[in-house]
Amino acid sequence: MKIPFIDLKKQYQSMEKELDIEIKKILSSGRYILGRNVEKFEKEFARYCKAKYCLGVNSGTSALHLALAALGVKEGDEVITQPNTFFATAEAIAYCGAKPVFADISPRDYSIDIKKLEKAISEKTKCLLPVHLYGTPAKIDEIKKIAKRNNLFLVEDACQGQGVFYKGKHLGTFGEIGCFSFYPGKVLGCGGEGGAVITSNKRLYLKMRALRDHGQTEKNKHKFVGYNYRMEEIQGAFLSIKLKKLKGWIKKRQQAAKVYNRFLKDLVVTPLDSVLDISNFQYYVIRCKKRDQLKKYLQGNGVVSLIHYPTPVHLQKAFSRLGYKKGDFPIAEKAAKEILSLPLYPEMTKKQILYIVNLIKKFYSK
Ligand SMILES: *Cc1c(COP(=O)(O)O)cnc(C)c1O
Repeated sequence: MKIPFIDLKKQYQSMEKELDIEIKKILSSGRYILGRNVEKFEKEFARYCKAKYCLGVNSGTSALHLALAALGVKEGDEVITQPNTFFATAEAIAYCGAKPVFADISPRDYSIDIKKLEKAISEKTKCLLPVHLYGTPAKIDEIKKIAKRNNLFLVEDACQGQGVFYKGKHLGTFGEIGCFSFYPGKVLGCGGEGGAVITSNKRLYLKMRALRDHGQTEKNKHKFVGYNYRMEEIQGAFLSIKLKKLKGWIKKRQQAAKVYNRFLKDLVVTPLDSVLDISNFQYYVIRCKKRDQLKKYLQGNGVVSLIHYPTPVHLQKAFSRLGYKKGDFPIAEKAAKEILSLPLYPEMTKKQILYIVNLIKKFYSK
């Protein structure tokens, strides 16, 4: 049986008519960027998250940069995040000329370790940038307390956290600004590149709105040197249509994760049962022995698995100037060698999941 990591073609087929009609409308309207479709989605997503404001942008990376720039993060500042994340989290810090400072993670849930985070704070620290990795909430209420106590900004990398609530609040609403990616492979994805920021602070909203469009506060009035981070109309329309499906998709993803957990628990380290009704399972990540051999074995039997992420950010060549070395964050480094993301998407059948489960059983009984 061939099982892809995700199946976006199937997702498209399930709403082909609706999407095609909207795309045609946009193409014939002649308005392609920041029009009524983007505005509509911004309103809908803000309401969904219970944030006051939302701005559509052209990627999750842009969202992160826009947030830090609006908060005035600059050269000489430090921003604390975790080493096991997608590279863009740290990249956005570097865009501002600031220094990414890392704190190690908790071994069981891969989110930033509160005690280590607190230890990483220095006089130069300006902002905390925790990541809701794999669509599972970081300990965001405790992180918020640390930010308050130390008078630091809090920005959430919720690029993998669409549709996820923690203690009744949507991810991205705990700090000053929440950042989202709608890269096609995310739980909520565009038909291309896209992202968003949410905030309930009007001043930050207005500043980010200007920075998104070359620093303009009105046409041809450039208050800041900004960026071109505008969202396209087609993406706004895609996202409005898909947002209606998000809740149902997450339910299906959680159901799949439950089946995996039930059958894999005794063979590998599975995600915690306590997050089965919380996480959106952007990635279903197990931790296992002989990871690379297992990955090959699955591949040989038609199943695509991936690693998120094989090299922690502090060991990437691009950040060698920061002076980090192997052994600095042992928990994140060890996890990077043992984690494996299994296929998971809403359209997946139980038969497919059990096929993968049985392959893993076979692999470990050899
Ligand atoms: C996807 C992702 C990003 C970047 O989003 P893009 O839309 O690809 O720019 C940033 N951080 C995390 C954790 C992500 O998963």
